Amino acid sequence: MSIIPFDDRDGQIWFDGAMVAWRDAKLHVLTHGLHYASCVFEGERVYNGHVFRLRDHSERLRRSAEILGFDLPFTVEELDAATRQVVAANGIVDGYVRPVAWRGTEMIGVSAQQTRIHVAIATWQWPTYFSAEARKAGIRMTWSRWRRPAPDTAPTQSKAAGLYMICTLGKHEAEAQGFHDAMMMDWRGQLAEATGANVFLLIDDKLHTPTPDCFLDGITRRTVIDLARARGVEVVERAMMPDDLAKAREVFLTGTAAELTPVGSVDDLRFTPGQLTELLSADFNELVRRPPAGDIAAE
Ligand code: PMP
Repeated sequence: MSIIPFDDRDGQIWFDGAMVAWRDAKLHVLTHGLHYASCVFEGERVYNGHVFRLRDHSERLRRSAEILGFDLPFTVEELDAATRQVVAANGIVDGYVRPVAWRGTEMIGVSAQQTRIHVAIATWQWPTYFSAEARKAGIRMTWSRWRRPAPDTAPTQSKAAGLYMICTLGKHEAEAQGFHDAMMMDWRGQLAEATGANVFLLIDDKLHTPTPDCFLDGITRRTVIDLARARGVEVVERAMMPDDLAKAREVFLTGTAAELTPVGSVDDLRFTPGQLTELLSADFNELVRRPPAGDIAAE
């Protein structure tokens, strides 16, 4: 399979308030965000030309930035409008959106007070994160040796680029052993999440999910909690242990990229993608394709 690099594609990217040709959306190597991880981002999905939960994502981008001490030079409304503009300009009907904000080149050092804050938004056509085949049987997972850090050792509620260092390490180590992804514990040894998605377990007819006190409370996670409750399923958010997996009948991941992805195994523990995962997946697929209320401008 030949890879088309992300810097060599047709289209346009929204960059600091203007549309620029895709190949011209460049940075200098002496960019603070690159050296010191002063960078936050979002991942959004476009369904039928609409970005699902766009407002929530734009708000989270601003909040992630605030947590890193950035004063983002665009309001939530401006970010929403820019996202719609770039999706329309690239003719994306079903795809992915990647907003990113970072500190610029004015200072290279731990202190970065005078750096300019930049924002860019790119979008592209994108199929499912895990292959259809892997999704059907449930993905094969192993445990990552990397743990989600404590909230007083990293800005864990920010979707900050630096927090993904251990995600890429964990995912690469899992892939090298033939797994699709890795499950992560937190610093206490509790069950936390996957490398880019939250996790749910069906135990005794209740849906259990770890309390997101040191990792992202995903927008998909919150959506799925609402969908489950609307179906009369009790949802329990609590501290969970790796041992809880042995009690689970069904396990699935949730995330913008992962959507709802059934888990087939975590090392030797096996799960069968079952009725609840299928029902909630169907509800989710229906919901994301519903035109957002009051979103006539984007029709
Ligand atoms: N955890 C991590 C580490 C993630 O990267 C993501 C994807 N943004 C999620 C959870 C799920 O978040 P969301 O449903 O908002 O995409």
